[in-house]
Amino acid sequence: MAAAVVLSARVQMLGRLIPNFLVSRMSSKVEATISSGIPVPLSTLTEEEAIMKSMVQKFAQEQIAPLVKVMDVNAKMDSSIFQGLFKQGLMAMEIEEEYGGTGASFFSSVLAIEELAKVDPSVSLVCDVQNTIINTLFRKFGTEEQKRAYLPQLAKDMIGSFCLSEAESGSDAFSLKTVAEKKKDYYIITGSKMWITSAEQAGVFLVMANAAPSSGYRGITCFIVPRGTDGLHIGKKEDKLGLRASSTCTMIFDRVKVPQKNILGELGKGYKYAIESLNGGRIGIAAQMLGLAQGCFDHTIPYTKERVQFGKRIFDFQGMQHQIAHVATQLEAARLLTYNAARMLEAGVPFIKEASMAKYYSSEVASLTTSKCIEWMGGVGFTKDYPIEKYYRDCKIGTIYEGSSNIQLSTVAKCLGSEY
Ligand SMILES: Cc1cc2nc3c(=O)[nH]c(=O)nc-3n(C[C@H](O)[C@H](O)[C@H](O)COP(=O)(O)OP(=O)(O)OC[C@H]3O[C@@H](n4cnc5c(N)ncnc54)[C@H](O)[C@@H]3O)c2cc1C
Repeated sequence: MAAAVVLSARVQMLGRLIPNFLVSRMSSKVEATISSGIPVPLSTLTEEEAIMKSMVQKFAQEQIAPLVKVMDVNAKMDSSIFQGLFKQGLMAMEIEEEYGGTGASFFSSVLAIEELAKVDPSVSLVCDVQNTIINTLFRKFGTEEQKRAYLPQLAKDMIGSFCLSEAESGSDAFSLKTVAEKKKDYYIITGSKMWITSAEQAGVFLVMANAAPSSGYRGITCFIVPRGTDGLHIGKKEDKLGLRASSTCTMIFDRVKVPQKNILGELGKGYKYAIESLNGGRIGIAAQMLGLAQGCFDHTIPYTKERVQFGKRIFDFQGMQHQIAHVATQLEAARLLTYNAARMLEAGVPFIKEASMAKYYSSEVASLTTSKCIEWMGGVGFTKDYPIEKYYRDCKIGTIYEGSSNIQLSTVAKCLGSEY
């Protein structure tokens, strides 16, 4: 009984708008939960995780789904989406309760990213970057003063952007050219960044700049730069193939003055911080691609059970069934890889190889799934009357950002090289 009360309290925090009576109704619907001591499949959720997943599903269906198409066409996220994400506690999943966050697990944020991506991968990306990169950087490496200054705002209504990539440094990110020149008790940041997610809306930017270029990557330092700082300009907003509702912008740093106390953590540790947060971030992108693929599959299979050709449902042709089963198997494999990597991170065991495998594989599965789904729907799958073509466009980025597929494979190979 006491455990149920604790669970209910936590669930209330996860879905701040969801009333108690609904929580208990959701609780009773939970089917697969972990019983202590019994080995379970990796995809089995704890009761708390299953309830959280149901709540994100409900939020996504009720508040995001009606806006997906118009946001894609207008290449603009509706402000109600941001408000909803914050109200639900989905932008502060792992932020501790003392800083105003949800106090949930990394695995729960991965589940939330997956569920949001089933409905809109753009919304999922906003949630992913905030949780797995921005909040993680502040939580793991920020000083107590920085945590107190920023975590409550990030939990309440402030979006953060991660600024690493530049025009000439993408995969080779740590050859970046943005510099931070030391003056008395402040730094002057000069340079530019590219591809910055949520830059249009962000209230704070975590900017990687080299404070000691002669030391190479060891000079890279992470600076906290609030929006509105003199010399900080948000440049061109990219017109993208997919994830159109999520803003992606260039940024210009024209002698931006930041006090020394705005160095996140320690001087010269930006390289380490970026790598560590991106290792976890890759699991988030794996979950995004997994959710996207599952959402697309879920839209398509009912169609194949309704569409009749040659006097039969197209689902009943063996040629179709084998393809569908093949994709379903790959989806399950992607889920197991992703959940395994997330559980490993949470357990504090080495997970870098598994995170790269999950991101690589989920991105490939998302490409396969969305392509096959268009084929299975025939001509209508190729039109904008159905959401399938959008999933197809949205998934391409999975093989590019937070380390391209080649970079993930290089990471896996590097790990294998030291294992054997
Ligand atoms: C929508 C979107 C959102 C993004 N959000 C952010 C963000 O918020 N913050 C941020 O800092 N960045 C962000 N990025 C940048 C993203 O991380 C980079 O695009 C990515 O790292 C790839 O860099 P690049 O585009 O310069 O490609 P390149 O590095 O030029 O790569 C081009 C090709 O070369 C291949 N390649 C490169 N090096 C190797 C190698 N060593 N071995 C084998 N193949 C190689 C790659 O696999 C790829 O296929 C975003 C990008 C996009 C498109």
